[in-house]
Amino acid sequence: MSALPPGSTIGILGSGQLGRMLSIAAARLGFKVHIYSDTSGPAFDVSAHTLGPYDDTGRIAAWAGEVDVVTYEFENVPLAAAAAAAAVRPVRPGARALEAAQDRLIEKRFIQSLGLAVAPFAVVDDMASLTAALESIGTPAILKTRRLGYDGKGQARIARFEEAAAALEAIAGAPAILEGHVKFECEVSVLLTRALDGTTASYDVPLNTHVNGILATSTVPGPLPDATARQAVEAAGRIAAALDYVGLIAVEMFYAGPGAAQPLIVNEFAPRVHNSGHWTLDACAVCQFENHIRAVAGWPIAATARHSDAVMTNLIGADANEWPALAAESGACLHLYGKRDARPGRKMGHVTRLKPMKM
Ligand code: AMP
Repeated sequence: MSALPPGSTIGILGSGQLGRMLSIAAARLGFKVHIYSDTSGPAFDVSAHTLGPYDDTGRIAAWAGEVDVVTYEFENVPLAAAAAAAAVRPVRPGARALEAAQDRLIEKRFIQSLGLAVAPFAVVDDMASLTAALESIGTPAILKTRRLGYDGKGQARIARFEEAAAALEAIAGAPAILEGHVKFECEVSVLLTRALDGTTASYDVPLNTHVNGILATSTVPGPLPDATARQAVEAAGRIAAALDYVGLIAVEMFYAGPGAAQPLIVNEFAPRVHNSGHWTLDACAVCQFENHIRAVAGWPIAATARHSDAVMTNLIGADANEWPALAAESGACLHLYGKRDARPGRKMGHVTRLKPMKM
């Protein structure tokens, strides 16, 4: 299929803030957007939409028939829903990316199979396998559910062997993996777009900080020396190529520092636009959302260079109540997602502060 002309309709599964920002980017290129979601989220404010369950494959197929290409804004799209859409229209990124991203065990094995470093890990299904895993990996370690974990949810830290039973209880005995605790200097992410013809382009690699397991800030320039940044981008490119990926992929990595035997350890990837790339909205001519839309529409990827240094700060829960001060702050680029209830831990918006780049 060649490039979709302006006026075509992009179908997006999911109605959160990522879907909202994708919709706005699509509109800038003259596309229409039709969202399908089981909840009425912030993307509904800016797009045509259908409210329906993800397990109603008949409705999903009918919806897909009304759009020209299908993409998604969250990685837990049920595979059957993606397959129902794929029978009618191209789904980008494809099913392989979804399958790998939905199960930490498949994901870790896949990343490892590409020759990339990951934390030591072992499969855990019960107390016996957890005991065996702890014996081989040691402590400290982290028990993570294989499915449906995000923002640090579905995880239990094990500092000492004696905490094993409590950790298994904390994740309700769900199928899991045990990961060795990686000693890292900081966390970074690669935001790479892969076009339909296989060409790729990556944004600068930001430094990411987390509070309570939720992304707090992303800063560019990040901490990676140039050669290490190139390695990080190459690793993300290898993951994307192996998945025959189309769109923007975010690959989260631990940076162990310049002296480490293994400076970069891949933590996980998200087959979608990512919170750690929100600074691209204001610090680049073309943001991650537009480049994702360009790729899924079969367009060429636009330049990813930065024109400014930037610090993106998430507005979590009550942080968003500071909007009058942020709106009045010179140079602060404020993005609010239109969510009504500022519940604790809820991503309500973000603010990006720009500084001219040092030449
Ligand atoms: P995840 O859900 O895998 O992204 O984990 C959430 C956060 O927990 C990460 O951003 C890290 O800060 C931390 N974390 C996850 N896995 C490990 C690990 N194996 N070693 C050290 N820290 C980790």
